[in-house]
Amino acid sequence: MSIIKLSDNNSLTIPAEMAKELDLKPGDDLSLEKGDGGTLVVRRVAASVAERDVVSRLMTPVQESIQKKNLATPFRFIKGVGPKLAEALAKKGIATVEDALYLLPNRYEDRRELRPVGKLRPGHTEVFHGEVLTADTVATRGGRRFFEAIVSDGSGTISLKWFHFNPAWQKKAWRPGRKGIFTGEVAQYGFQREVHHPDVEWLAEGESLATVMARDPFNFGRIVPVYPLTEGVHQKTMRKVQKEVVDGFAAAAVNPLPADVVTRNGLIPLPEALREVHFPGEAATLEALNEGKTPAHRTLVFDEFFFLELGLALKKQGVALEEGIPFAVTHRYTKPLLQLLPFQLTNAQRRVLSEIKGDMMAPHPMHRLVQGDVGSGKTLVALMAALVAVENGYQVAIMAPTEILAEQHYLTTHRWCEQLGVAVSLITSSLKGKAKTEVLARVADGTAQIVIGTHAVIQDRVEFFRLGLGIVDEQHRFGVIQRGLLKKKGASPDILVMTATPIPRTLAMTVFGDLSLSVIDELPPGRTPIETRICFESRRPQVYATIREEVGKGCQAYIIYPLVEETEKSDLKAATQMAEHLQQDIFPDLKIGLLHGRLRPEEKEGMMAAFKNREIHVLVATTVIEVGIDVPNATVMVIEHAERFGLSQLHQLRGRVGRGSAKSSCILLTPGRLSEDGEKRLRVMEATTDGFRIAEADLEIRGPGDFLGTRQAGIPDFRVANILRDGRLLEEARHEAFALLEQDPDLVRHPRLKEELVKRWGGRLELAGIA
Ligand code: ADP
Ligand code: MG
Repeated sequence: MSIIKLSDNNSLTIPAEMAKELDLKPGDDLSLEKGDGGTLVVRRVAASVAERDVVSRLMTPVQESIQKKNLATPFRFIKGVGPKLAEALAKKGIATVEDALYLLPNRYEDRRELRPVGKLRPGHTEVFHGEVLTADTVATRGGRRFFEAIVSDGSGTISLKWFHFNPAWQKKAWRPGRKGIFTGEVAQYGFQREVHHPDVEWLAEGESLATVMARDPFNFGRIVPVYPLTEGVHQKTMRKVQKEVVDGFAAAAVNPLPADVVTRNGLIPLPEALREVHFPGEAATLEALNEGKTPAHRTLVFDEFFFLELGLALKKQGVALEEGIPFAVTHRYTKPLLQLLPFQLTNAQRRVLSEIKGDMMAPHPMHRLVQGDVGSGKTLVALMAALVAVENGYQVAIMAPTEILAEQHYLTTHRWCEQLGVAVSLITSSLKGKAKTEVLARVADGTAQIVIGTHAVIQDRVEFFRLGLGIVDEQHRFGVIQRGLLKKKGASPDILVMTATPIPRTLAMTVFGDLSLSVIDELPPGRTPIETRICFESRRPQVYATIREEVGKGCQAYIIYPLVEETEKSDLKAATQMAEHLQQDIFPDLKIGLLHGRLRPEEKEGMMAAFKNREIHVLVATTVIEVGIDVPNATVMVIEHAERFGLSQLHQLRGRVGRGSAKSSCILLTPGRLSEDGEKRLRVMEATTDGFRIAEADLEIRGPGDFLGTRQAGIPDFRVANILRDGRLLEEARHEAFALLEQDPDLVRHPRLKEELVKRWGGRLELAGIA
């Protein structure tokens, strides 16, 4: 029952759902009459006689909903869906018919012909039929147990094995004489072929395969869908229910994509695509289906990407329509800076800079993401951009994720700016009392031209005189909210986001799709590649020998300890003890330093400065040094418990060495027992130093949701698409969406598209805001 309220101007708003259910269109005339018992009867004036009035329709929403093929129909009203199934699927977020339509099979089985057991091919996933001959738990000589069933169809026998099983349950299911359809990957061990942990669908007692196949055309004689299941739901049940859903409702899924977009991208009508992905027709091959590459899959994925990108395009357009500061490039400070530098900008730095300048000169706010691998020279690019703003009489805020990094930025920037006569201030949370008041006053009256800090910069008390540019370093540590807050410190300032996390392009497009992207894809010349190797605990003495050797050459070393939040205290202790142990027992003649997040800022700064000045040979540190620290004389990095770190973190850490021209190495120490993923990560580190390849691998190992650590990174949940698999389609969809918006900026010529967009994006579509 919906409640409709009369608004101030005496108008009634029919909730969108209800309007949809009733098939009301904008412009329809409605008549209102008083009905029985104080109800209001709403009629569409032009409604045919056969159509009953609105109120009575709302009384019987279920049948109506089903008859009207309403995709919002609750899933539980589908024929064959009992309370148990409804509940099981509700847990997976399947509440409506629409949800069910988009619950796609995660793979397909070819049951057009079952393969005779005698002809099963090792190395293939096969589907075969057979009868259980024997089945029992077997104990190996080593004391391990497995469950084995021998199955035959007359053409041969095969052994099915389980290594994780419930003996009683298994024994009960696998009764000799029972017949079933089995699926699994066939392996050959010596003379014996085996299938481990097969899937099974039992035939009813006493039924022959031929009868079943003839009677059950959805489960046999075709390519069948295999759904991702929850406990207690059978494939057969799912297939039956999904058949109901598809037959009843696929036709109602209307595709509002413009016809030319559909044809240009080889898409098929949405209803057909939905039918095909659930119950593929003759044309589809098993391979294409399982890879998600059929036209039907492509259509659904494209559709999903298209609306995502259209939303992002709208956001971006919203920003582009905002008024911003049209900076002029005067070269007053930038040119002298280039002359002060002991090196030339790389081509990549030059290109990215001109992209930034282009944005800054435009009369709309810049929202640009600069991606550059560790050591690619982002800081300098940021400083050049900052100087452009300063040349125009504006202030610049530079935000870094940690105090150490903010301090380091301050030191580097300050050093250059002093020579240029540009005033730089540092704000961190350790700034207190009178010193703080003074700095805040300089920021407020504009004497501080460049303000560097941690998120302290965006605190309430900091007021800028005239903020023109906000630079966010190491974006992945900053949420969208911080970006927004920074923006609010000025009147439509330009925003430049720098990240060292080489986000794979596809992911960048979905997460930062509303930002323009620049990539510094070149390292400054003269860097020698870092040699990386995995070392097991037993080789610790050799690791120390390496450190000693490097120190002997006048170089320095880092030893990194993981700091996992829950066990922070004990890890901290480990790092502290390690530093003591190294100092006393291993390197009594060298100077060992310790750097961790619990030190006071002055202590941290002192320690970093001492390391930079080579007063310390070996710096034992937690991950506080992960980002941005720049000591070119450090040539060895030992990472303790390397298996505990994520790939991109390892890459960031490793980027602290190899910054000078001397050959550097990185040693990944590990106790030896590695998880599969742990080993994969370390092997990737050994194999490459290319940040983009590492990021791709990371994405593959962890999956997109996890990749940036937090959900708030804003990666959408895809129903159908997989950004790893479907990267190409994402680009195509993005291209189409942006092109469409360019031609029809307000979507006035595409009202259906607009309606669908609003439906899908919900409240997330504030056009102007950067969030
Ligand atoms: P990032 O922040 O991208 O990891 P940095 O900006 O800290 O990298 O730069 C790393 C080092 O490279 C710094 O010491 C910097 O002075 C130096 N550098 C930057 N640009 C160049 C260049 N074009 N040629 C040589 N060295 C450069
Ligand atoms: Mg940096």
